[in-house]
Amino acid sequence: MPLLSTLAGFKGELIQPRDAAYDDARRLWNGAIDRYPALIARCADADDAAVALAHALTTGASVTVRGGGHNVGGWALADGAVAIDFSHMRGITVSSERLRARVQPGALWGDFDAATQPLGLGAPAGIVTHTGVAGLTLGGGFGWLSRRFGLVSDNLAAADIILASGERVRASQAGNPDLLWAIRGGGGNFGIVTEFEFQLHPAGAQVLAGPIFHPADRAREVLRFYRDFIKGAPDELSVYVNLRTAPELDWVPADLRGAAVVTLLPFYSGNLDEGERQLRPLRSFGPPAADLVQRKPYTAHQALFDATVPHGWGYYWKSHYLPPLTDAAIDAIAEHAWLKSSTASYTLLFHLGGQIARLPGDHSAASGRDARHALVINAAWTQGGPSHPDIAWCRDTFRAMQPYSTGGVYVNFVHNDEGEARVHAAYGPRYERLAHLKARYDPGNVFRGNQNIAPLT
Ligand SMILES: Cc1cc2nc3c(=O)[nH]c(=O)nc-3n(C[C@H](O)[C@H](O)[C@H](O)COP(=O)(O)OP(=O)(O)OC[C@H]3O[C@@H](n4cnc5c(N)ncnc54)[C@H](O)[C@@H]3O)c2cc1C
Repeated sequence: MPLLSTLAGFKGELIQPRDAAYDDARRLWNGAIDRYPALIARCADADDAAVALAHALTTGASVTVRGGGHNVGGWALADGAVAIDFSHMRGITVSSERLRARVQPGALWGDFDAATQPLGLGAPAGIVTHTGVAGLTLGGGFGWLSRRFGLVSDNLAAADIILASGERVRASQAGNPDLLWAIRGGGGNFGIVTEFEFQLHPAGAQVLAGPIFHPADRAREVLRFYRDFIKGAPDELSVYVNLRTAPELDWVPADLRGAAVVTLLPFYSGNLDEGERQLRPLRSFGPPAADLVQRKPYTAHQALFDATVPHGWGYYWKSHYLPPLTDAAIDAIAEHAWLKSSTASYTLLFHLGGQIARLPGDHSAASGRDARHALVINAAWTQGGPSHPDIAWCRDTFRAMQPYSTGGVYVNFVHNDEGEARVHAAYGPRYERLAHLKARYDPGNVFRGNQNIAPLT
């Protein structure tokens, strides 16, 4: 691609390999990924994205789109591509009367919380504040509030989109409902979203939450107790579990840092007196090595784990959806979780169900309504770079957990080397409808810098 100093009508920043800003601009959250786009078009507004797309199409370059740049597979950038980069478009406008938030495509979840929480409002979000709103929402999305209010994408009311043809459309129930159905989980396959509009809830600003640590050698009994405890959990309560080495962070009790621990992570929003009552059995079981559950601002809880997954480390993930845990599944998790060599690697169980599961499986493109858990096996190494022995640990653990999986997977936890079959597994019976919609909205597969759904004509 020829070097450009301007692009007619483009108001943002154009960054190319010769520019001093290039190496910084092509950095992604995952330090194992190293991509060399031909042009990074850092947009100032939605019109810029349309200009950059048209430029890519006329020059024959491929296109990628960057929201928060957090996808583990690094889909936001590709070698030789035009990267439509939204990292300078992070504005959010909240209407407390309409209970709606309009969110620009480069916003991170920390931006979303900062705009909504002062009004006591919220919506399901990612559990790390430096993750992008865009990619997470387009993949389906779940977080602490999802058992109460559904998937992140269930709360996506409308979106402004630039299609592969260049046409600008709005997807909502009132107009282009098929497109809304597809982008609620179908990823970036259908166009470039230039604004998201979310339904908000009076979720409150205080929660009862925090880690409860148990020693790793008690993992089997802790997980069995956990499995039984969450059977009757109300929607206001989610309990995640992290099996890891306790990190060297201020909030971790000094005597536990560096120890192998199984961490129960309860989160209660709503009436916190009722939350105290609900959490009593979980907090007294063991007893735990440490119990850091407390009333605190939702925003404080949202930021608690940020430093455990910083930008620039190397990461490799694999994932399964799981049904309710069986004894055999628990034994397999406990057997593999600490075979890792990096203290930064971990195995995390998300707790699903509640409002997520109340909607029918074909409510949208998103997956996970039939699962009780999403299991993420996260190999992480602090020095960055493409390889680490824990990648083999991640793959081995993934294989060991295969017999206990629903067969499905959350598309945003699929890595870039897992192939087409895994994308099919992510969408299951919804894949065919998605492939037909892809043929309608992007017949030439312009938007293939993602977990790709091939157009089916
Ligand atoms: C630390 C960490 C924590 C996470 N926690 C959660 C969690 O709690 N819950 C959860 O559900 N997921 C979670 N995820 C997974 C997360 O959903 C994905 O990594 C997601 O892709 C991140 O979105 P992004 O905008 O930052 O990514 P990017 O890498 O920028 O983009 C990801 C994909 O979305 C496409 N895309 C981005 N923006 C647009 C747009 N405007 N229009 C069209 N396509 C676009 C990209 O092209 C790419 O294919 C987490 C990830 C990380 C790294």
